[in-house]
Amino acid sequence: MKQVLIILTVLVGLVCQKPVAVAAAESRKPFVVVIDAGHGGKDEGASGKKKLKEKDINLAVALKLGALLEKEKNIKVLYTRKTDVFVPLDDRAQFANKHNANLFISIHTNSAENHAANGTEVYTFSPSSNTVAMRENAVMELEENYKKKYEGFDPNSSESYIQWDLVAGDFGFSGQSKELASSISRQLTKQTGLYNRGIHQAGFWVLKYSNMPGVLVEVGYVSNLEEEKFLRKDSSREKLASAIYKAVVNYKNKYEKKAAAKEKDVKADAERITAGIHYRIQFYTGARKNINAKEFKSCVPATEYKITEERYTYTYGDEQTYAKAKELLAKVQKDFKDAFIAVFKNGERLSREEARPYLK
Ligand SMILES: [Zn+2]
Repeated sequence: MKQVLIILTVLVGLVCQKPVAVAAAESRKPFVVVIDAGHGGKDEGASGKKKLKEKDINLAVALKLGALLEKEKNIKVLYTRKTDVFVPLDDRAQFANKHNANLFISIHTNSAENHAANGTEVYTFSPSSNTVAMRENAVMELEENYKKKYEGFDPNSSESYIQWDLVAGDFGFSGQSKELASSISRQLTKQTGLYNRGIHQAGFWVLKYSNMPGVLVEVGYVSNLEEEKFLRKDSSREKLASAIYKAVVNYKNKYEKKAAAKEKDVKADAERITAGIHYRIQFYTGARKNINAKEFKSCVPATEYKITEERYTYTYGDEQTYAKAKELLAKVQKDFKDAFIAVFKNGERLSREEARPYLK
């Protein structure tokens, strides 16, 4: 009986103990991508001479993109629409905000009066208008009471876009959004061979009101006869989806690397704080001074340390992390170019040798 119990305990132990790598992957928060197929339902978007509708192209590319991303580990895909339904413009951005998305990708198809216009464009947000942003934003007019809901924003007036500049900014994501935009733009050219119209910035409502990095992709011109033919094909839509997919995966990998490095730093900082490590900037050694001495410039009040009867050392500031200490050092070095970071443990100065592991 005793033997059976031991075997059972071992078995239970084996079953319950998950490999470390699996446990770590599970604890990672998924990278949430919101895919926004532009238009839908009564809002058909642009349409081609041969009656191909923008809303159908957008949805097909969105679903294909989602299917590719869903196969990736640690990516969660959410759709503002998966069928041919009308979704109000503002709900799209709010949907992404509600789900704390890491990325917002809006898919559209372009149209122009000049039927020769062709190619792909990728947009990030800026508070300025252009004809594409005006046309895409104008779908809000299909909503009842849109004037009240969109607080008087007139999608056809460039004045409205200028006003945006005065309210909230772009939430500080423009760098990341542009990085993704240029990656998508490159991939689209590589995989579809369509003319590359480059990356641009304009005032798209969905990008303005989504609080995360985001792009709006115009996958081609439905108003161009040749491109309409291209966009109708399933194989073309696959290429378009695959191009955006590649760029998103590259972006996510970069993002996760950065996040992991940051997490490591935060952990290292916490360990140092627990160990009583802190940093001060040493900027003067010599005869004794007043801690508020005029020649100490911005480094007052300083902290005084006595080395010998004639020799004193002065430091400035007290920082908990090496990163903060480096920032402070840069400021102090404007006045004292030979200043350096001194490491302390619970108020006691560490020797050069002891300090070394904490100076990185
Ligand atoms: Zn559109």
